[in-house]
Formats: sequence, structure tokens, C-alpha cells
Amino acid sequence: LHRDPHEGEFIQAVQEVVHSLDPVLSKIPQFVHVLERLVEPERVVIFRVPWVDDKGEAHVNRGFRVQFNQALGPYKGGLRFHPCVNLSVMKFLAFEQTLKNSLSSLNVGGAKGGSDFNPKGKSENEIMRFCQSFMEELYRHIGPNQDTPSGDIGVGPREIGYLFGQYRRLTSQYETVLSGKGVPWGGFNLRPEATGFGLVYYAKEVLADLDKDLRGLRCVVSGAGKVAMHALEKLIAFSAIPVTISDSRGYLYDGEGFDYGKLALLRDIKLHNKSLRDYTKSYTKAKYYDDSKPWSVKCDIAFPCATQNELNHVDAMALVNAGCQIVFEGANMPCTTEAMEIFRKSKILVGPCKAANVGGVAVAGYEVVQNNSRIQWTPEEVDMKLQEIMKDIYHKSIKAANDYGFSKGNPQALVHGANIAGFLRVAQAMLEQGCV
Ligand code: NDP
Repeated sequence: LHRDPHEGEFIQAVQEVVHSLDPVLSKIPQFVHVLERLVEPERVVIFRVPWVDDKGEAHVNRGFRVQFNQALGPYKGGLRFHPCVNLSVMKFLAFEQTLKNSLSSLNVGGAKGGSDFNPKGKSENEIMRFCQSFMEELYRHIGPNQDTPSGDIGVGPREIGYLFGQYRRLTSQYETVLSGKGVPWGGFNLRPEATGFGLVYYAKEVLADLDKDLRGLRCVVSGAGKVAMHALEKLIAFSAIPVTISDSRGYLYDGEGFDYGKLALLRDIKLHNKSLRDYTKSYTKAKYYDDSKPWSVKCDIAFPCATQNELNHVDAMALVNAGCQIVFEGANMPCTTEAMEIFRKSKILVGPCKAANVGGVAVAGYEVVQNNSRIQWTPEEVDMKLQEIMKDIYHKSIKAANDYGFSKGNPQALVHGANIAGFLRVAQAMLEQGCV
């Protein structure tokens, strides 16, 4: 880490894991050297992405693919198109992905990629041209047995379609190289829903172990993208009361809770890139707050589902004062180190992203199996599998925490357990594969 002192997000992610691993490294000292290797990505590709806008003007963005660790299988991890993308963000996400994929029991390694391209305000054609130019370089570094990217912030089925089309054109191969494709041409039923649904299944499992139920619990949710909207849908299905959503412009509060009708309106608002404020025209008791975050709203549970470090120490204090008892991380590393410290001191239970948002990648792993067998799984089959996966991840984390001295009553037990269980599998594979 001394090599890259300016990579704040990456250092934050590694430090959290190292902290959890103290008892593991004391018990199994040979893992110290494995950890030293594990925090160094196997390969980082940085490339120029030139593209031409609708007026004929040329632009250039920076593209990344961080292939972090392949010890468990071909690299896998999302692509993000957002102005926040830089090497530190890519490395933190790829490191997290490595441990997350390990925890999921799939035979896939960890990677992440993307670009600082901002899709907002771009035309359909501009987005297509950008995706094609991005793939023009990326295709050299990916393949079914090498690296199989999927989506993330700013990359959904539309972008995956353009990326896949260009990959196919460049290679003349119809291969299982990208997941998150359209269902009619090989995509997996329920892939778009899987991260948000899985997050709520994980929450349900944790609550069941505490003899609690989601029914009637007030939930604050941040974000209004793929993860947040599907989490909202599943919370409604389990009769919880989700009362907020947010985006990069502000947050919306509906004290009566969202239902399916309201969710359809929210989806329509986001689809047309309108302000969440528009919701209050139809539901006048709801309130919209510009440039604010939802963390001071009275609640039982919080689901941060927008982006990294969206919840800082001030927000964490606000959540504690608002009565929040549990935080389930839908986004990757949504809580700052200081926020986590406040949760620890206030005995707020945290369900960490590494476990809680695994649903998407776990299902994406099965997309490969489906594509290779050419048999389409039904949404019901995928949903059953997803519920099993989330249950298994919870129990695996709890067991690992318990094995290394973090009791179930410890509010950080799920964080430590996920870090330990994720580390042990990939570390063992690295040890057995020698110093490579
Ligand atoms: P989307 O692009 O679909 O949605 C992101 C949402 O977060 C948008 O509503 C966006 O606002 C909001 N947002 C982004 N940046 C900020 C910010 N700085 N402040 C406030 N709001 C912000 O992304 P996803 O839902 O796919 O991903 C969300 C998180 O979940 C990310 O951390 C991602 O890494 C993680 N994740 C996603 C998975 C997936 O399957 N998609 C899998 C596992 C993790 P606006 O609408 O205004 O742009």
C-alpha cells in the first residue's frame, strides 16, 4: 500500500479487510505472504477511448480494466461508466470483487473496469459509439476463460448490448464473455433484479436469526438505480415500509411508504431522466429535498444502494439518532471508515456489501452455465437459487466469524465473517498454486 498512498478508496477497502484478518494471520502465519500478494492486482490495463459526438466533435476518455485475481477462475466483475472512475476506485472495486466472488463459492476471480465517461445527457448514438470504442481495446483482454465483465453504475442491458455487439464483430465469436445481456439473446432471467432482490433476501435471513421479520419495518433506501429499485420492489413484497429513495440530485420521502403503484411511477420518472420531485405532484404528502441525503429519516433499517462513501460519520450519527438498528450495504463500500466506527460504538449491526450485494454476480455466474448448455432457466428457478445463495452466504459468514472469535452478538460479526470467509478460500487457492 506504501506504493500508492494517494489511492484513498483502495487503501480504505484493504484496511478494513486486514483489520478483520488479525486472528486469521495469527493462527495461520503463511497467509501473511499470501495477503501481501493478494493486495497487488495481477494486471491493470489503462487505455484511451476516443469517440465522436453527434456534432462531429472528438472526445477522449480513459478506460480501465483491473484484473485483480484469477486464482479461483476467470476474472469477473462489472464495468462502470461514471465521472468518479479512476484507478483507486477501480482497484478498490476489483479487490472487493475478488473477496466477494470467493465468498459466493463460484469459480470466478475478481476484476473491475470502466471509464470516466459520463453517460448522462448523451444521445443513444453517442453511447453506442462510446461503447464500441471502449470495446475496440477491451476485447484484447477478455474472453470466456480469461475475463467476463458485467454491468455496474452507468452500465445496464443497453450498454452491455452495444459492448457485446462490438465484441462479436471484432472476434467473429458468439461467446459467453459478457453477462447482463438481454434475455432473448442469452441473458439470464432475473439478472437485473438479482442484486437488489438478493440484498433483501440476505436482510431477511439476518432478521430471521434475530427472531425478526421485515414486515412493518421502516426502511430508508438511497439510490434510484438498478440495485435500489429492485431492493424497493422486494421490500414491498415482504410488507416492509420503504420510505425514501434518492439520486445524485436529492432525496424523496413518502412517510406512508412506497407500494407497487408508486414504484411504477418512480421507475417512469427515472426512465425519463426527470427529477424525483415530480413524484410529489401525484402524492402531495410526500416531500422532496434537494441536495440532501435521507439518513436523518426515522427508520428501523437503512439500505445504502447508491455509491461508495455515500454515508459519512455525520450521516451515521443521524441514522443512530433516527432509531436505525441495522445497515445493509447494497452499494459497494457505501460507509466511510468513520461511519463504520460510529456504527460499531452504537452497536448498529452492519450487513456488509461483500455478502449482501453478492446476488448479481452469483446469478451472473450461472448465466455462463446457461449459455454453455443453451437451456434457459425460468425466473422461478433463478429466484429459488438466489435465495439459497444468500442464505448460504449469511451462514458461511457467521460461521467464519464464530471460528475466529467474533461472537454472533458482535455488531461487526457479519463484516469480519464475510472478510474472513472470502479471504480463506482465495488465499488457500493462491497458496496451492505457488508464488505466481
Ligand atoms: P445505477 O447506475 O443503476 O444507479 C446508481 C444510483 O446511485 C443512481 O440513482 C445515481 O443517481 C445514484 N448515485 C450515483 N452516485 C451518487 C452520488 N455520488 N450521490 C448520490 N447518489 C448517487 O447503479 P447500480 O444500482 O447498478 O449500482 C449501485 C451500487 O451498487 C454501486 O456501488 C455498485 O457498485 C453496486 N453494485 C451493483 C451491482 C449491480 O448488479 N448493478 C452489483 C453489486 C454492487 P442518478 O440517478 O442521479 O444518476
